[in-house]
Amino acid sequence: MFVTYLECTSCGLRHDWSRLQNLCGACQKPLFAIVDLAAAGRALRREKFAAREKSLWRYRELLPLAAEVEPVSLGEGGTPLLRAKNFAEDVDLWIKDESLNPTQSFKARGMSVAVSMAKYLGASKLAVPSAGNAGGALAAYAARAGLEAHVFMPRDTPRANIIECRELGAHVTLIDGLITDCGAEIGRRKEREGWFEMSTLKEPYRIEGKKTLGYELAEQFAWQLPDVILYPTGGGTGLIGMWKAFDEMEALDWVDKKRPRMFSVQASGCAPIVRAFESGEKTAAEFSNVHTCASGLRVPKAIGDFLMLKILRESNGGVVAVDDDDMIRMVREVGSKEGLFIAPEGAACFAALKSLRAAGKIDIGERVVIFNTGSGIKYLDCYEP
Ligand SMILES: *Cc1c(COP(=O)(O)O)cnc(C)c1O
Ligand SMILES: [Zn+2]
Repeated sequence: MFVTYLECTSCGLRHDWSRLQNLCGACQKPLFAIVDLAAAGRALRREKFAAREKSLWRYRELLPLAAEVEPVSLGEGGTPLLRAKNFAEDVDLWIKDESLNPTQSFKARGMSVAVSMAKYLGASKLAVPSAGNAGGALAAYAARAGLEAHVFMPRDTPRANIIECRELGAHVTLIDGLITDCGAEIGRRKEREGWFEMSTLKEPYRIEGKKTLGYELAEQFAWQLPDVILYPTGGGTGLIGMWKAFDEMEALDWVDKKRPRMFSVQASGCAPIVRAFESGEKTAAEFSNVHTCASGLRVPKAIGDFLMLKILRESNGGVVAVDDDDMIRMVREVGSKEGLFIAPEGAACFAALKSLRAAGKIDIGERVVIFNTGSGIKYLDCYEP
């Protein structure tokens, strides 16, 4: 294990990794785990991975958790990267299909690492607000770890997510409101109840699990990063995690300096990052009157907003907002052309690809990766008359 300390992403203050930590004690912003890359680089060469287990724990030296501690794992990561030639002929399009993770979404990556660390550091009751898939992932890994899970969800969260959490043994509370209201309720009660809060970017290790998206992509493309990444953005852990992985891999000398252009795709009914990017803001104001069937994108206010906006600009990428009708249409187009029943969040990226091509922001022949972050099967509510 080569994590040496936690560092605030805003003020730079250092924190001890070996104690349970949420936000920066000085400024209440997210903390990053800082890996001693010189030491990690001496301990392993990138050629070693091919012979290892097909899970994100193959990148163990770059992840938290002491080498002798067994991770809480259900076989997360190691998902297929599929060419999508039928959908797009003029670009070199690939789908990273994250629906094959445990609990059918990429939330499994973050929760495997975060629950492993929370257990190791002595937590016994874990709480999370969830607009959809985070709850199921926490419930599954907490069950596996023998810990209590407390999940707070908006009352109109897709039924599959709610039932999944209950059947995995979590304590589920439905709230009349949005994910931000669920987070506020946990904030009010956590001290009294002895809960450790696992919200997006409010503890440092979910992002470590998500960063394996970046390592995996590089490894699957023989250490050549693609030209463009389209990412359906809610709290932003995937975007921020991948960028951290790119920074680390560049320092390790595993990839060159050339970075993908990162595009954040959101629903027109909840597009705080799109709006902030377009108006040149450094942070994103809370979005009101939120509505979209893509529950993973129903995040009106994200604590990592400033990190996302920085990455989108630094990478020369951008933003796209997509209507729900277009997402649902795109689910069928991708399904019938590529054989995958994708989540509306993933479908939003396919719609975004079309508009970015039409606007000339993606060139003919460029290598583009779309993240299908979840499975269509959890969103049957979107298809009811
Ligand atoms: C959570 C979620 C997202 C958004 O991911 P962030 O990393 O929070 O931006 C996208 N799609 C699905 C299916 C999700 O569950
Ligand atoms: Zn700080």
